[in-house]
Amino acid sequence: MGRSYLFKCPKCGYSLNAELGMGMADNWLMDKYEKEVKHGDYGPVLQKAVREEDTFVNTARVLGVCESCGEYSVFPSLFICRNEPVDENEDGSSVFESFASADHFCVKCGGKVRIIRSDVKDYNDPSPLTCPKCHTEMEETEYGLWD
Ligand SMILES: [Zn+2]
Ligand SMILES: [Zn+2]
Repeated sequence: MGRSYLFKCPKCGYSLNAELGMGMADNWLMDKYEKEVKHGDYGPVLQKAVREEDTFVNTARVLGVCESCGEYSVFPSLFICRNEPVDENEDGSSVFESFASADHFCVKCGGKVRIIRSDVKDYNDPSPLTCPKCHTEMEETEYGLWD
């Protein structure tokens, strides 16, 4: 189950809809990512972490911002998490600690994308988003769940 967010610019009306977290249709993605990580597609560090430590490959839809051009994007990120839960969510599901994530790059300019909203611990930035059109701070509302 994921959460839906709406970011809206109070000045020019620009809006961004983001469905974050993980839906039921994302299970196949975890398998795909796991195979790719084990194969070495994401570099030796992640490959070693998955092969030699008590970990699993996790995925979650996250919101990122390009550090070069400022483009926002929602994409399924790849995290390596420790098998031992560190906390519990309000709904009783486990929170896992992530200690490595794959790099993601901007589809527009190829710049590095930084994750700013996610349901994965340590991959969040509480600062408000800026409107890409007029640079005003956007309002953020959480408006529902999806699966
Ligand atoms: Zn605006
Ligand atoms: Zn970019």
